[in-house]
Amino acid sequence: MVRKVDWSKYVKIKQDKIESFVKNFGAKKFYAIGLMPIRGQKGFRKLDYEFAEKGLNIDEIMTKLEDAHFNTLGIVIKDTAGACTWNTKVGWNPTNRDILGEFCDVGKDYNIEIIVSFTSMNDAYQGYLHPDRVSVHGKSGEKYGIKYHEGEISTHIDGEMRIDLPEGIAFQEYKKKIPFLTNQIDEEAGKSRDARGEGYIPLTSFMCPNSEHVNYLLELVSEVVKNYPIKGFFADYIRYDGAYTDLCTCNRCIQKFRDIYGNKPKLLKSSEWYDFKADTIVNYARKLNDTIKSINNTCVSGWFCLPGPKKLFSRKRLGQDWTKLSSILDVVSPMEYPYLMGTRDDGWYWGKIADFFYWYFIRNLKKRAKEFKAPVLITTNSVECNTKEMLKQMRGFDLGLGIAVFKYFGTSDEQWKALKRYAEEEIGLENLKFSN
Ligand SMILES: [Zn+2]
Repeated sequence: MVRKVDWSKYVKIKQDKIESFVKNFGAKKFYAIGLMPIRGQKGFRKLDYEFAEKGLNIDEIMTKLEDAHFNTLGIVIKDTAGACTWNTKVGWNPTNRDILGEFCDVGKDYNIEIIVSFTSMNDAYQGYLHPDRVSVHGKSGEKYGIKYHEGEISTHIDGEMRIDLPEGIAFQEYKKKIPFLTNQIDEEAGKSRDARGEGYIPLTSFMCPNSEHVNYLLELVSEVVKNYPIKGFFADYIRYDGAYTDLCTCNRCIQKFRDIYGNKPKLLKSSEWYDFKADTIVNYARKLNDTIKSINNTCVSGWFCLPGPKKLFSRKRLGQDWTKLSSILDVVSPMEYPYLMGTRDDGWYWGKIADFFYWYFIRNLKKRAKEFKAPVLITTNSVECNTKEMLKQMRGFDLGLGIAVFKYFGTSDEQWKALKRYAEEEIGLENLKFSN
């Protein structure tokens, strides 16, 4: 067995914050699994609206979770494509179904609370509807072999997501439903993480966090918190696009930056510029938290972050200030997926690559955990790795309050058995019961 890390040496969170989280959450430990309703039955690189509409069996899912002793289900209710999987008057729901509502109704019969994950700035559908709200490149460059130019909006072909045409439906017809679909096809799946998708390639957009998009998001947030009995609301993609360093230089952002800092600091180059990016994201976090709490004060607010170097990645590319964001939202969930980078099952080389990422992610977290001011609930992966690798991550990344696993579809039968044993032998079932 892997030796557990003594995280108490690295994490500096006030005891009262932890106690108040445990009290609010209602169980001593958190044991969650993520579900992406529109990513099909296997990996997560397919956008499969047909499966969400016709194939998703809510009772079957809840029964399986209960059998493995999970006490929390994390549903991705708004995906990167922009699809909303609840009964919405404001957003785009291509599934013809109130998936969140169905889970909430069925969930009442189980010892399982529902939290939601909400993709914020990445939104292909809104990028199609409102190109004027998409973030803008500040310089020309090339990514994935495709050139882009200064002043152009950041709508690009998606690196990972792929779409299959439903049976008997032609491309042009399906494009009416999925307007951000392109006629380019990725034919063959590879072993490296960004080469595993197959099918038609959609476009993707990162919206400007100083645009009207934020108000659209807050309207969606209100709708969800008001209408559904959820335990937690977690913002994902609460950041700029990590693939680029030059976002966003739209007129709105430049004007706002000049209003605050004057004419001297340089766009894209000054430390003021990166403060501005981070504060833009912080402002969204504050509005998000206020919106959630004004409707339901006991709904836990959270956010997801990615591991990596503080200056070059979190600050310059993502615009995420871990200290500020975790001072606003109740909990933070770093997404630690080393064995998504590769698995021993694909051969020795890929096992070594992933072992390296495991080592690096643990080291990076040890170094940076002190930046967090709120309880830390890590999400790690079960999909696309083997049982041994999954358990290694679960043990390594439990900082004391439990662990979340990504994700429901794609987890093997052997892994499900191991997840159940993990709850019984390593978390303790008494810790997973809700008291309220
Ligand atoms: Zn902008």
